[in-house]
Amino acid sequence: MKSGRILVVGGGIGGLTAAAALGQKGFEVTVAERSDGTGVEGVGISQQANVVRALASLGLAEEYLSAGFAYEAVEIYAPDGALIARVPSRSLIEGYPASLGIPRPALHKVLHAAASATGAVIRNSAQVAEMVPSAEEVGVILTDGSSGHYDAVVGADGIYSQMRHALFPEVPPPQFTGQAVWRYNLPRPPDFDALHVYNGPTGVGLVPMSQTQIYIYATTPEPANPAYSVEGLAARMRERLSGCAPQIQEIAARIVDDAAVVYRPLEAIFLDGPWYKGRVALLGDAVHATTPHLGQGGGMAIEDAIVIAEELSRHDTPQQAFAAYRQRRVERCRYVVEKSLEICRGQLGQGPLIDNARASAEMNILLAQPI
Ligand SMILES: Cc1cc2nc3c(=O)[nH]c(=O)nc-3n(C[C@H](O)[C@H](O)[C@H](O)COP(=O)(O)OP(=O)(O)OC[C@H]3O[C@@H](n4cnc5c(N)ncnc54)[C@H](O)[C@@H]3O)c2cc1C
Repeated sequence: MKSGRILVVGGGIGGLTAAAALGQKGFEVTVAERSDGTGVEGVGISQQANVVRALASLGLAEEYLSAGFAYEAVEIYAPDGALIARVPSRSLIEGYPASLGIPRPALHKVLHAAASATGAVIRNSAQVAEMVPSAEEVGVILTDGSSGHYDAVVGADGIYSQMRHALFPEVPPPQFTGQAVWRYNLPRPPDFDALHVYNGPTGVGLVPMSQTQIYIYATTPEPANPAYSVEGLAARMRERLSGCAPQIQEIAARIVDDAAVVYRPLEAIFLDGPWYKGRVALLGDAVHATTPHLGQGGGMAIEDAIVIAEELSRHDTPQQAFAAYRQRRVERCRYVVEKSLEICRGQLGQGPLIDNARASAEMNILLAQPI
């Protein structure tokens, strides 16, 4: 398909990247995004060299890198706070940094601008109301009253994907892991220039994400999957960090604003079967939502988006393109989901405790492979 009309459902990390990548290939793209476009979580995200490479391939390196904080190393700490190693991260493109921490709203802004620059139409407050697939096209009515006929549809509507449910109603929902993550933004100390990861049953990390900010995350067992009210969240997070390294406890004392604590139960899903049906395919968390232990969920969604655009522009039919897309992506994404779950289970005492330095080194080698 050298041209055609594509509907992308979901304007998150994967959907906006898909819109940009497809738009750059000459497709006419509409994005239907459920939210009103103002509600991106204010916490950060960490991304590795494979993501820098992916976004550079779309010509977005400059905007992307200047919107975050680039770093070149991971410092691994023992549970008692002793520095075990400072492991240099390897860049995959000469002259570009190896890793980046970036506030989610800043990443969203870069991807939104990139999609819009290609002429993609982004419709906020819009979901699929009706979808009628046929052999030749997919007819879609959106909840904002608009409608269209598309050559292909890409479902990028996240972990609780309605598109997944529409295509594969037999697939069970994402599974709760027994673990949750707590995140909080803090001022960046002037010399803070690397990702800090603490080994131990409470997985703690500190991520630089701008000249002025870092964020702290902590993964903790929450087997009953409680629904905490906002009131008291800061005290709960401090309490979860009370057995951690002395420098983490010092930082924890600055976690005081309940409303600024972002708490999230961790769930995962991986579709072993097909990732598409007819002219409709899924990408990102809709098809392989990982826990964040390797910091690669967003990266996998971005890579999916680039690959799906390449394959759509290379093949005569969406079905051929989607089969090739899944073939290129499935083992890489399976690795990220399964390895992340292994780390999660180790922290929960349900399996061997995984060494962070070794897991990161292995991931970096694997994900350095071309996509
Ligand atoms: C706690 C936590 C920390 C993480 N940390 C990292 C990290 O450090 N690095 C990293 O790379 N990844 C990280 N991830 C993973 C990353 O956030 C996801 O993998 C990534 O957002 C997936 O992108 P996506 O486009 O598939 O889904 P999303 O980014 O979730 O986007 C889905 C979009 O679809 C919209 N939508 C939902 N339903 C509908 C509908 N019915 N119709 C229309 N639109 C709809 C949503 O509003 C949203 O905009 C983390 C995840 C969690 C939970």
